[in-house]
Amino acid sequence: MSLSQSPYILYSDGKGNIFEDTSLYVTGRSGWDAIQVPIEEWIELPTGGQLYELPGRNGIGIDVQSGEMRLCEKGWAVAAFIPPAYTGFYIAAYETCPEAPTLPLFCYTAAGWLHEKFYVPAIRIEEDIRQDCEGYDTDKINFGVHALLKAYPNNRLVEHLGNNCALTYHCPAARNFFIGRWECPVPSSPACNANCIGCISFQPEEETIVSNQDRLMFKPTAHEIVEFTVPHLETAPFPIVSFGQGCEGEPLLMADVLCEAIIEIRKHTSKGSLNINTNGSKPDAVKALCKAGLNSIRVSTNSLRSEIYTPYYRPNNYVFEDIITSLKVVRDSGGWTSINYFVFPGMTDNIAEYEALRKTIAETGLNMIQWRNFNIDPDWYLGKIGVSDTGEYLGMKQMINLLKEEFPQLRFGYYNPPIERIKGIYETDFAH
Ligand code: SF4
Repeated sequence: MSLSQSPYILYSDGKGNIFEDTSLYVTGRSGWDAIQVPIEEWIELPTGGQLYELPGRNGIGIDVQSGEMRLCEKGWAVAAFIPPAYTGFYIAAYETCPEAPTLPLFCYTAAGWLHEKFYVPAIRIEEDIRQDCEGYDTDKINFGVHALLKAYPNNRLVEHLGNNCALTYHCPAARNFFIGRWECPVPSSPACNANCIGCISFQPEEETIVSNQDRLMFKPTAHEIVEFTVPHLETAPFPIVSFGQGCEGEPLLMADVLCEAIIEIRKHTSKGSLNINTNGSKPDAVKALCKAGLNSIRVSTNSLRSEIYTPYYRPNNYVFEDIITSLKVVRDSGGWTSINYFVFPGMTDNIAEYEALRKTIAETGLNMIQWRNFNIDPDWYLGKIGVSDTGEYLGMKQMINLLKEEFPQLRFGYYNPPIERIKGIYETDFAH
């Protein structure tokens, strides 16, 4: 049910306390512009969502009396980090003071308050519940980590996934692995052939922000990979093994080891899906992986326009067109293809981007778009890629609906599909 009015703006006292200002309706941001969010696009902040105070920034609101846009001078601006499976339609709108610090690598969705509740402009884009926070039982996770570290005492990857990923970074995929269900993450590469501005596993010293996790420091062997993934594929419900994780560089740089592992895995089990999350930079390596038995690929990108992609990814020895070729290679080998699309309202739904996306879907026969909220400081990002005017935009909700109409076979979501979904059993029949 949509609201009867716009929510009020939120502000913080800089000490972690958040208040509403009922003299101002909250606005949203698209590109560089503050706009009035359509009332029907607000939903309650989903469970697992968090609120952030934004130091050195004042929220932009609409005066309840005059209807004029003005700053909330009562405190710092507030934004929401919306949980996985939800896609945000607008960023938090604020004015940044000159001395404001760069914000860490999280998403900053608009957030407001009404009738004793927090609201965000967003949609649940994915029905799969695999990373819903209600489904995580800490005792089960601790028990699983302890049991698997004991079962594989010499396996550096299980040690990394247990002590770092599950217990330190609280990675949702690693925690699912130690509970014995769904998608099992397999990081493999300490190096990368790109230099993404918002890399979550490596940030250069000169930057003031830090990466969310440390990059893997060793190259696993095929044996280390096979040892724990075969039992997972054999026993887990809707099992997926996913190469390419947030705590590593680029897995295609480890293609030889991954091919060896895939061939060995398939000698022991035909169950589940073998997927790779990648920057898609090396089509030849992708071809070799498909030949070995890879089932699906997810190529990450901030844009389907090379002039927006290149200043963000800062690629070494590859070009934007290579990622498109990689999608075609997997499609031609009968595999499933997804893009991990970093959603930035005003850039993602801008007309030129929409046209580039339509062209890519048609050219590559893309199967799925994973609409991922872009975890980055909006001003910092646009500044770094040199975009001062983001141009005309459609609105994220309208863009998603237009694509649904034009490409009815195209799937929308947030996670890599298990083989059951790839084969068409698309109903969500997961249970915690
Ligand atoms: S491709 Fe991944 S690992 Fe490489 S720089 Fe970009 S975000 Fe970092």
